[in-house]
Amino acid sequence: MKELYKIARFPLIGLSTIIVLGFLIPEEPVIPARGASFSDWNSQSFWYEPWGTSGVHKGIDIFGTEKTPIVAATRGIVIYAGKIEKGGKVVVVLGPKWRVHYYAHLETKGVSTTDLIPAGEVLGSMGNTGNAAGKQPHLHYAILSLVPYPWRATGETQGWKRMFYLDPDEFLR
Ligand SMILES: [Zn+2]
Repeated sequence: MKELYKIARFPLIGLSTIIVLGFLIPEEPVIPARGASFSDWNSQSFWYEPWGTSGVHKGIDIFGTEKTPIVAATRGIVIYAGKIEKGGKVVVVLGPKWRVHYYAHLETKGVSTTDLIPAGEVLGSMGNTGNAAGKQPHLHYAILSLVPYPWRATGETQGWKRMFYLDPDEFLR
């Protein structure tokens, strides 16, 4: 029994070390559209409703012109770069603190799944792919925490999901 405990605790120590290390990596965020400033998005648009088929808006929309370089807000590893229905061309990056950064409606994408990238790396260019078709080019940027923040849950529409979604406006300020 004692032996079994000895064997079992090493993977546990390893796993908790990895989780803690993730929290120690500094985020040092940059605005994910090159040249954009705080006036290029509406600071109230996070959790705005009604919002199409999503119900509420779980990110912010950074407006600009087509071909504006979209850059990584934080360092990380690209866990998905491809095309989906609503988001169009998207890049998904796992960054520090076990937070997933979601960049959507890109016109072109310049990274591939499993790429390790620094903050500021060009991920692609701004566009209006997916359900942004016909609208002004913008970057939909959302941040999803894999570790829940239970105290952030509210009684509003889909309010329980606020345990996982961070307000990118707050994050970038
Ligand atoms: Zn959006």
